[in-house]
Amino acid sequence: MIRFLILRIVFPLLVLWFIRALLKTLFAGFQSSVTQAPKAPPAPHAGGELKKDPVCGTYVSVEASVTKKVNGEVVHFCSPACRDKFRAA
Ligand SMILES: [Zn+2]
Repeated sequence: MIRFLILRIVFPLLVLWFIRALLKTLFAGFQSSVTQAPKAPPAPHAGGELKKDPVCGTYVSVEASVTKKVNGEVVHFCSPACRDKFRAA
């Protein structure tokens, strides 16, 4: 009777543990295949579209950049300092 109970508790736990390990392995494989995938341009800042700072020439991601509208066009800068320099020029 006790052996029967142990089997009913331990066996499902082992199955769950096995499924979890299997999923972990699959997920790890999926992650490494994602990180190994070639990315378009080499980015100094990760993520998003890259724009060139016209003042210092650094490529900045759109999300991280400081923006300013010049003649209806949005210009991207790496920092407020570069934006101010552009304004002064
Ligand atoms: Zn800059």
